[in-house]
Amino acid sequence: MATYRQTLKNAIVVCQQAGVNEMLARRLMLELTEQHQLNLYLVDDEEIDEIILSEFLIGIERLCRHEPLAHILGYEWFFGRKFSISKDVLVPREETEELIGHILSDIDELFGQGELDCADIGTGSGALAITLKAEEPRCRVWASDISEEALSIARKNAIDLSTEVHFVLGDMAQPLIDRQVKLDICISNPPYIKKEEIVERSVVDFEPHVALFGGTDGLDLYRKLLDQAPLLMKERSMMAFEMGFDQQETLHCEIALRFPFSRIEFRKDINGKDRMCFVYFNC
Ligand code: GLN
Repeated sequence: MATYRQTLKNAIVVCQQAGVNEMLARRLMLELTEQHQLNLYLVDDEEIDEIILSEFLIGIERLCRHEPLAHILGYEWFFGRKFSISKDVLVPREETEELIGHILSDIDELFGQGELDCADIGTGSGALAITLKAEEPRCRVWASDISEEALSIARKNAIDLSTEVHFVLGDMAQPLIDRQVKLDICISNPPYIKKEEIVERSVVDFEPHVALFGGTDGLDLYRKLLDQAPLLMKERSMMAFEMGFDQQETLHCEIALRFPFSRIEFRKDINGKDRMCFVYFNC
């Protein structure tokens, strides 16, 4: 029998041959050992547990078919919390953690004490909505999605993480408008990949296209939400979006066209790419 270290080493070679990032094999081993209450760094040179070995080998096989690690594990970490993931929701990304970080600091800076009405439009796994509620319990949080399957994963995550979020089914902000909800803060990570863009296999073959593709220039869903904004946002309020790294100019135009007096800000992600857009109304 092999040790943990040797098993991982062999798997890394297999991954390299299949064109799969070896970090995924490392993360798989770390997650599996942790699930079995083992610290990989302490047991590295011990003989590998049989159950872990068989789970690991099945996982490596799936990784080599370019399946996302989150699908193999059934979860992904986001802002320090574990979110269940299925094929019906986008896997939460690190870049999106940065978006929530900016929103939390904007809340401190721009909004005084008291309750805030917030929404996450197109919530998917619920990662943004649930994290916001968990980090800022004074926020009353709504979350919409057009997919019933996505909402059931998001509801499960809210229960597992003991957070209260009001989930509603429908197209972008429409279900909130129907309920006459008015927001201080509207967040969205809508699908923004361009129709013709070439996307990694692990993304395009496994993640829901309804969460990925946003029409010819990728901005269809932003236009929809911006058109809904006058019925949705309070007079003093803000919107925060994730976006594609090359969409700053076009997105700026779409916003300025509709809201010439708003303050528009773009922020870069940790990789130095334009990734987030903030729109402030009277604040
Ligand atoms: N960031 C994702 C990707 O590149 C896309 C997410 C989205 O469209 N909102 O795979």
